[in-house]
Amino acid sequence: MTKILRQYKITLERVDSNSSTTVSDPDNLGLRTKLGGKPDWIQADEAPACPSCRQKMSFVGQIDSIEHESKHNLHSISAISPEQEYMFGDVGMIYVFFCFECGETKSVYQFY
Ligand SMILES: [Zn+2]
Repeated sequence: MTKILRQYKITLERVDSNSSTTVSDPDNLGLRTKLGGKPDWIQADEAPACPSCRQKMSFVGQIDSIEHESKHNLHSISAISPEQEYMFGDVGMIYVFFCFECGETKSVYQFY
């Protein structure tokens, strides 16, 4: 089933290169969406190889389950509500990769 998800505008803020989110901290659930840096893997590292050149692909960003029900989350929606749309499995994350040589893209999905 194809869904048309509600829209969110994203404000970009440049961060220190050493900054990373702590995936294991429950207070961060739903708030881990970011561009660049290193992937905050929920499970083991699954960085894909480019389907064309077979080189390891560059990490572009990750999209969290941004409507996760949490007092820390501005976009929290009740987990039992049919209104909750951005929930990838059990508070999972989608990781996006790109090969700058070949113009190939891949995504990886992980959850708890
Ligand atoms: Zn490539």
